[in-house]
Amino acid sequence: MSEVGEMQKAGEMAPRSIVMKFGGTSLEDAVAIRRAAQIVRHRLNHRPVVVVSALSNVTDELLEAGRLAAKSQLEQATELLVSLQRRHEQVVQQSAGPAQAELLCAQLEQDFGKMRQILKAVAGAGELTPRLQDHLVSFGEMMASRIVQAAFTHAGLDAVWVNALNLIVTDAAHTQATPLWEETDEKLCAALLPLVAQDKIPMLGGFIGATLDGIPTTLGRGGSDFTASIVGAAVQAGRIEIWTDVDGILTTDPKLCAEARRVPTMSFEEAADLAYFGARMLHPAAITPAMRKNIPVSVLNSRNPEGKGTEIVAHPPDECSIKAITAKKGVTVVDVQAVRWFAPELLREIFEVFERHQYGMDFLSASRGSLSLLVTSTDALPKIAEELKGLATVRWESAKALVCLVGEKVRRQPEIASQVFRALSEVDLRMFCQGASERNISFLVDEAQAEDSLRKLHTLFFQSRFDRYSTANTTQPMCQAGGSWQ
Ligand code: ADP
Ligand code: ASP
Ligand code: MG
Repeated sequence: MSEVGEMQKAGEMAPRSIVMKFGGTSLEDAVAIRRAAQIVRHRLNHRPVVVVSALSNVTDELLEAGRLAAKSQLEQATELLVSLQRRHEQVVQQSAGPAQAELLCAQLEQDFGKMRQILKAVAGAGELTPRLQDHLVSFGEMMASRIVQAAFTHAGLDAVWVNALNLIVTDAAHTQATPLWEETDEKLCAALLPLVAQDKIPMLGGFIGATLDGIPTTLGRGGSDFTASIVGAAVQAGRIEIWTDVDGILTTDPKLCAEARRVPTMSFEEAADLAYFGARMLHPAAITPAMRKNIPVSVLNSRNPEGKGTEIVAHPPDECSIKAITAKKGVTVVDVQAVRWFAPELLREIFEVFERHQYGMDFLSASRGSLSLLVTSTDALPKIAEELKGLATVRWESAKALVCLVGEKVRRQPEIASQVFRALSEVDLRMFCQGASERNISFLVDEAQAEDSLRKLHTLFFQSRFDRYSTANTTQPMCQAGGSWQ
C-alpha cells in the first residue's frame, strides 16, 4: 500500500476529524477572529481542520479593483489595494503576536506587490481575464488563512498553515473550477492527516485551488463551503460545520424577510436544492461531497455559538412539506426558435454552442418548434445567436427572478402550486419545474416583484405555523408532520 494509502487507513481508524469553515462574515475583524478561535478551542477533542474564507467583503473589493483596472482606472484600483492592505495590517496587529505580526506584514507587502502587478497586467490587456481574476482574488483567502493561523497561535492553539493552492487540484475552468477528485483527495490526506494525528489544527484557505500546472483557480463565489465539504469528504470527517452570521438555514433569507425562522433539520437533497436555487448561504456544490460520504453538515452562527443551528443529514426525522423559500435574481430567459423544426441534431448543436461558451444553463421548457432556457449571464448570448443563425433564432428577456419552494415531496402536493397561483394572482408568473426532483417548485417572476412575491409566499406557508406555535406555547415546533422550524 502507498504511503498515502497507509495514512488514509490510519485516518479512517483514528477518531474522525471535524471540518470547521468560517466564512467572511465570521472573520470581519480581530474580535471576530478571536471568537472563531474560542469556538475552535471548544472542539479541540474533535480534531478540527479549519477552512477560512477571505475577510468579509475582500473578494468583492478585489474584484472591483480588477474591474477598475480593466477600465484603465488603475489609480482608483491601486487605492482600493492600499485600503485593503491597511485593513489586513490592522487585523494582524490586533490579533497576532509581535514577532509573527512582523513576518505577516512583510508577507502582506509581498502579496500586495503581486496584486499591483496583476492590476497592471489587467490594465495593459484592457480586460480582467478569468485567469487573472482568479489569481487576483486568490490572495484574499491566502492572506486570511495566514492571518487566522497566526491569530489562533497567539490565542494558544496549535494551528498550522497549509497552502490550499497545493492541495485542491482543479481543472482550468477559471472562476468556476471543479476539483480533480483523486489528486485532491490524495494530497489533502497526505497533508492533513499527519497534522491531525499530532493534535495540530491544519488551517487552509477555502475557495481557491490550482491546476496541475500550479495556476490559481477558484471554485465559484461562496466556494469556501465547497472546500470544507471537499476536505471533509477527503479526510472522512465525522462532521462538517459551516460557521456563518445567521442561526442556521432559515425559512428564507432574513435580509429579504425579517420573519425568517431557523430550520432545525434538512436532508442533503433539500439543502443542495436550496443552495442551487439561490440561497446565498451555501455554495451550490457544497453538499455533494458530504452527501457522497454521508457526512452530516451543520450550519451554525459564530455570533451565537450555543445555538443549535441546522443539521443536514441523509434522513432527517421530520417530513415537513416546505422547508424554505429562495429567490434567485439576475436570471435571463432565452427562447430558441427553430427556423424549421427541432431535429435531434439541432438540439445537440444548440447545447454544444452553449457549452462552448461555458454557459451553465437550466432547461425551462420545450415545444415542437421552440426551446426555453434559463441562464444567469447575457455576455455570450449575442455570439451564441450569431453562431446559430440560419438554424434558430435566439431571443432573451433579462431581469427575471426564480422563486423556489424547497421541501421533500413538495411536488407531490398539487395544492401547493394552486395556493401559490392564488397568492400571486397579481404577478406575471411562469412556472418552472426543474429535472425530475420532487423537492422543489419554482416560479419565474419579474425581478422587481421577487422580494414581494417571496414575502407573500413566506406568510402563506410559514406564518400560520409560527402563529400556531406561539399560541400553543409548546416546546415542539408545529408543522404538518413533526416539526421543521423554530
Ligand atoms: P459567509 O461569509 O459565512 O459564507 P454568506 O454571506 O455567504 O456568509 O451567507 C450567509 C448569508 O446568507 C446570511 O447572512 C443570509 O443573509 C444569507 N441567506 C440567504 N438565504 C438564506 C437562508 N435560507 N437561511 C439563512 N441565510 C440565508
Ligand atoms: N471569499 C469567497 C467569496 O466571497 C469565497 C467564500 O466566501 O466562500 O466568494
Ligand atoms: Mg458564503
